[in-house]
Amino acid sequence: MKIIRSYKFRLYPSNSEQELINKTIGCSRFVYNQMLARKKDNSKLNTHELIKELPALTKEYPFLSEVDGCALRCAIFNLEDSFKKYSAKQGEYPRFKAKEIDNSYQTNFMRSEYKNRIYESIKLDLKNKVITLPKLKEVKIRGYRKLEKIEGRIIKATIEHIANKYYVSVCVEENKEIEKVIPNSVVGIDVGVKSLVTTSDGEYYGNPNYLKKYERKIKGLQKSLSRKERGSKNYLKTKLKLKEVYRKLQNARRKTNEEIVSKIIKSHDVIITESLNVKEMIKQGNKSLRKSILNSAMADIIRRLKYKCKWLGKEFYQVPEFYASSQICSRCGSKNKQLKDINIRKYECEKCGLIIERDLNASINIMSEGLFKNYHLN
Ligand SMILES: [Zn+2]
Repeated sequence: MKIIRSYKFRLYPSNSEQELINKTIGCSRFVYNQMLARKKDNSKLNTHELIKELPALTKEYPFLSEVDGCALRCAIFNLEDSFKKYSAKQGEYPRFKAKEIDNSYQTNFMRSEYKNRIYESIKLDLKNKVITLPKLKEVKIRGYRKLEKIEGRIIKATIEHIANKYYVSVCVEENKEIEKVIPNSVVGIDVGVKSLVTTSDGEYYGNPNYLKKYERKIKGLQKSLSRKERGSKNYLKTKLKLKEVYRKLQNARRKTNEEIVSKIIKSHDVIITESLNVKEMIKQGNKSLRKSILNSAMADIIRRLKYKCKWLGKEFYQVPEFYASSQICSRCGSKNKQLKDINIRKYECEKCGLIIERDLNASINIMSEGLFKNYHLN
């Protein structure tokens, strides 16, 4: 089975390399915006046609020829992705990228042969701790100390510039022999706002403790940002700080979620969760910072569970989002619509007298529904 993995390294570019990276980021954004403007004029233009316009654009703006051409094509593919998400109602209509927000570029792996010489656009040398990237040549990296070699085929690299630091994520396709596990134990999982994860065997993984800390920091910085003049030196400085806090938040989230997921996967072979309503989540996320942090944590947990199950040969099912897991009594199956109100934390069944915590009830329902209908989405 083919599995896509990514490895993120800290990048240590020299001054001139930093300059080139920043330039490439700027040019990628420029191409993205130019092509978005063309799409706005003529929505029928497809990716292939946009890519065909690149040489003419480079002629008009010669600075584009100074950077990795593959990165410029990637910018167009990214635009295509944004439009795909928009048509699938998973995102908003693509917007022009502003300098302070977008600070990464992507480049695809290319291999060619010329007179028996093989050229590979991205090369990772873990022994000498360097990565070769188009136009940049060798740049120092750090990370994955124990890893000696990456198995598999490099697909692309993403180069990021965040708050004076540089990173590179290398995306690799690996071929792995996976033996199906004979299922022994099943668990239903409810993800929610009150406690992040509730399992049908009564485990609660409460609200992550990083939440309050970062929420306060982000709110403070946002407030101070709103008082500053847009584009001024102080404004950009605060924006940089804000970005750094978001990065730390992401790291904290990854650590917590990895722990939760590996604990669940260790003791169960069939994992059943809900499908999250992405559209609904986007809407809610726009309303409050806390919700948007929690939404992304929930989506991340489900993504990890799915990926790990695949990786370990375990089963992963999802029940559809319209299944009313919290309104059904997990003992007798009767329905109580009052539970739509998320503030009611206890399920009290009028029919059979069951009294049970709301999320636990939901997770048991998710487990039985998943087993009963055997939803197979992958
Ligand atoms: Zn009941």
